[in-house]
Amino acid sequence: MSTATEIRVPDIGDFTDVPVIEILVAVGDTVGVEDPLVTLESDKATMEIPAPAAGVITQLRVAIGDRVSEGSVLLLMEGDADGAGGGTSAPAATSAPAADGAGGGTSAPAPTDAPLPRPPAPAPSADADHHADVVVLGAGPGGYTAAFRAADLGLKVMLVERYERLGGVCLNVGCIPSKTLLHAARVIAEAEEMAAHGISFGTPVVDVEALQGWKESVVAKLTGGLAGLAARRNVEVLTGAGRFTGANVLTVGEETVSFDHCIIAAGSEAATLPDLPDDPRIVDSTGALALAEVPKRMLVIGCGIVGLEMATVYDALGSKITLVEVLDALIHGCDPDLVRPLHRRIAGRYAEIMLSTRVRSVTASEEGVAVEFDGERQGVFDAVLVAVGRRPNGGLIGADTAGVVVDERGFIPVDAQMRTNVAHIYAIGDIVGGPMLAHKASHEGKVAAEVIAGVAGAAFDPRAIPSVAYTDPEIAWMGLSETEAAARGIEVEKAVFPWAASGRALSLGRDEGLTKLLFEPGTRRLLGAGMVGVNAGELIAETVHAIELGADAEDLALTIHPHPTLSETVGFAAEMAEGTITDLLPPRKRR
Ligand code: FAD
Repeated sequence: MSTATEIRVPDIGDFTDVPVIEILVAVGDTVGVEDPLVTLESDKATMEIPAPAAGVITQLRVAIGDRVSEGSVLLLMEGDADGAGGGTSAPAATSAPAADGAGGGTSAPAPTDAPLPRPPAPAPSADADHHADVVVLGAGPGGYTAAFRAADLGLKVMLVERYERLGGVCLNVGCIPSKTLLHAARVIAEAEEMAAHGISFGTPVVDVEALQGWKESVVAKLTGGLAGLAARRNVEVLTGAGRFTGANVLTVGEETVSFDHCIIAAGSEAATLPDLPDDPRIVDSTGALALAEVPKRMLVIGCGIVGLEMATVYDALGSKITLVEVLDALIHGCDPDLVRPLHRRIAGRYAEIMLSTRVRSVTASEEGVAVEFDGERQGVFDAVLVAVGRRPNGGLIGADTAGVVVDERGFIPVDAQMRTNVAHIYAIGDIVGGPMLAHKASHEGKVAAEVIAGVAGAAFDPRAIPSVAYTDPEIAWMGLSETEAAARGIEVEKAVFPWAASGRALSLGRDEGLTKLLFEPGTRRLLGAGMVGVNAGELIAETVHAIELGADAEDLALTIHPHPTLSETVGFAAEMAEGTITDLLPPRKRR
C-alpha cells in the first residue's frame, strides 16, 4: 500500500500517560514486523512498541519525553501496516531502568486469558538420571512456593537451583537483607528524631561487620528453614544451573532430569548501564547490600524503589547521598501526593536530588568515581549504586529448545493458569513480568502447582497486587491509583485522611503521612488505596483485603479499628467518604 498508516500505542495493560524514553527509528527507515519502534517507560516497566507490519517510516509523531497512552499515535508508516488496523502488536516489556517495582521494576504484559498457540507435548525421556512429576527451575519465592505446594498436593517434585542456598533474590539479596538493613536505618532515624523531644543518644557508632553479620544471620535462618521444609516434604533439591535440552528434559550440570511438568521460576537479575568501568566501588543492589564500609559520598542512579531503599539505608548510616533519575519523579508513576512527603524529607537530608537527568559518563580514579550528568554537572563519589531495574532470565535457560516462547527481553508469556505456550511447561514470578514482587511470584507459584495437580478453578486473578517502598516514610499503594484513573478517564471518588489528625501518628512524631482511598462513584466500592507514612507497608494489607472482598466505603468506615493506631486512618478515610468523620470536619455531609 502507498498511503501512510498511523501506528498507535497498543493495549499496554494498566499503564497510561507513559513517557517515551527512546525513539528507535527515523523517517525513511525500513522496518520489519516486530522491529521495535519506540521505548516507553513506566514506574514498573520499560516497553518496546514493535512494528505491527513491515514498512517505511514516513513521519514521527512523538518526541522523547512525550507522554502517551493506549491509542496515542506514535508515527506514520507506509507499507503493510494497514493490515494491523493502524495499531501495533503487544509491547515487549523490558528490563531497563524505571522504579524497579519493589526492586523489580520491569514488567511484561500481565497473564492473559487468551489461549497461547501450543505444540503437542512430546513423550517424557526414558533414560534421564532423574524423573519427577514436576520439576521447578529456580528456588526463589515463586519456585519454592510452587515446589512445596505441588508436593503437598501429592506430586513428586524436584527443585533445581543453581546456588547452594534456596530462597532466590528475595531471601538472599533482595527483600529480606534490604529490610533487615532498613530496620537498622529506622532505629537510627528514630533515635535521631527523639533528640528534638528531649532524648539524645549521640552519634551512632556503626560496626558494619557486625551489622552485615546480623543481616547474614537473618538470611541464613530463613534459607536454612526452606531447606528443612523441602526435606520434610520430600522435595528433592538438585543444585546446579538447569537448561532445557528438550520439551521434557533439563540438564543440570552433568545430570539429566526428565519431567511430566515443569515450572520455570528462574527470576531476574539486575539491569545495568552500558560502558560502566569495572570497579568495586560501582555496585548493583546485591553489592550495595554487602558493602564492607559506609561510603562518605554515595551516588544512587535510579530513583525507583530499590534505589531509594538503599539510599535510606546509607543515609541513616552516615553517607551523603546524591540521587539521579532520568525521569521526572521519584518512584515514577506513583501518585505525586504519596511521593511528596518522602521527597520533602530526603530533600532536606541528601546532598542533591537530580530528576530528569541522565548520567553521561562514569570514570573511576583514585580520588573516587567521577560522574558527569546532563547540564554539564558532575560529582565524585566513593560508591555508586546502579539501580536501574531488573531484567528477566528467560533467555538464559534454553527455553527455545523446549519450544517455550521467550520475548526479546527475556519474558515468558503465560496465561492466567501460568501456562506457557507449551502446555506442560509453566512459568511464574519475575520471569513472566507484571510487577516484579515476591508476593506476586509466590501466589503465581501456588496457582501453577494447583493447576498441575488438577485443583479446580485455580487461576491467577487478583483484584490488586500491593506495592511498597520501604523508604522513610514508607509509601504503599494498591489497585487503581489516582494517576492511572486520571489518565484513563475513570471517574473516582477520593477520600483522604491526613495523618496530622491521627493521634498515633502524632505520638510517633511523624504526622506527615496520609491515607487515601479511591471509590467507585455511586456504589462506593473500593477501587484503590495509597498511603504514605511510617508503617504504610503494613497498613496497605487491610485495603487489599477489602478490595478482594468487594468492600465499600461503609464497610471500611464501620470496621472498628483499635485506637490509637495508624490503622484507624483507613477507617477515618472511609468516614471522610461517608461524611461521618468526627475527628475532622466532614468534607461534605452525606446523610
Ligand atoms: P528469584 O527470586 O529471582 O529466584 C529465581 C531463582 O532461580 C534464583 O535463585 C536463581 O538462582 C535461580 N535460577 C535462575 N536461573 C537458573 C538456572 N538456569 N538453573 C537453576 N536455577 C536458576 N519484592 C518484594 O515483594 N518486596 C520487597 O521488599 C522486595 N525488595 C527487593 C529488594 C531488592 C534489593 C531486590 C533486588 C528485589 C526486591 N524485591 C522485592 C523483588 C523480589 O526479590 C523478586 O520479585 C522475587 O525474588 C522474584 O521471585 P522469583 O521466584 O520470580 O525469582
